[in-house]
Amino acid sequence: MRKPIIAGNWKMNLLQADAKALFGAVKNYLKDLSAQDLPVVVMAPTFTSLAHVEADKCQCGCGCNKIHIAGQNCHWETSGAFTGEISVEMLADAGCTYVIIGHSERRQYFSETDEMINKKAKAILAGGLVPVICCGETLEQREAGVTDTFIAGQIKAALDGLTQEQIAGSVIAYEPIWAIGTGKTCDADEANRTIAAIREVVAQVSSRTAADSIRILYGGSVNPSTIAEQMSKSDIDGALIGGASLKADSFNEIIKLTMEGMKNGAAV
Ligand code: PEP
Repeated sequence: MRKPIIAGNWKMNLLQADAKALFGAVKNYLKDLSAQDLPVVVMAPTFTSLAHVEADKCQCGCGCNKIHIAGQNCHWETSGAFTGEISVEMLADAGCTYVIIGHSERRQYFSETDEMINKKAKAILAGGLVPVICCGETLEQREAGVTDTFIAGQIKAALDGLTQEQIAGSVIAYEPIWAIGTGKTCDADEANRTIAAIREVVAQVSSRTAADSIRILYGGSVNPSTIAEQMSKSDIDGALIGGASLKADSFNEIIKLTMEGMKNGAAV
């Protein structure tokens, strides 16, 4: 049984006060819901808001401890002369349990390579956190019919040298680049097919057990009107959400619809 994950990627948005308000509104919504019924809820604020969000957590059983915090990036070294970078230990110290790596925006604008993403995955796992490894094709690659081969290459490189157990506990986010922030979602059946193909790559490079355990999310213009169909598919284990995670109403609605799908047995 793979528990679905609903993860919000705030990217370079929200000042500290806005971040606190958004976290507070989601926390408030989750307060009266049973943790058992919920998907794993993850929020990835900017680094400057991590401490505020973490400080808003408490241990009283209210909504805040139902939210996991993620870093949006990390460096693979533990410390040193890497101006502008952040280590896994620093993210953990700030309350993070997940780290998003390999987002197409980082690959495109900051020249991140598959090799760097593999080093980051290893550092995150060594630090006891969970990597959320992003992959996805461009429109040109999709139209040229090389989607599956291209993504298989990204996945094989990212998972290189990881143990079965490490892979089983990791998360992959399939995010077709042409669907990110464009309002064009990938057809749910096609997203499911691609994710099933990614799962087969995991089985090939690791094991069937790891492939059946790893959670593979879909990302790309997910919103309250798309999530129910996406979550009804056999291989889609949740969503990585950009734009729609910046508003409490839409993020909470996505959580609610995911919970309904889980109740109806729609999600795996
Ligand atoms: C993302 O940033 O990973 C993303 C999928 O963004 P959006 O939901 O806005 O397309």
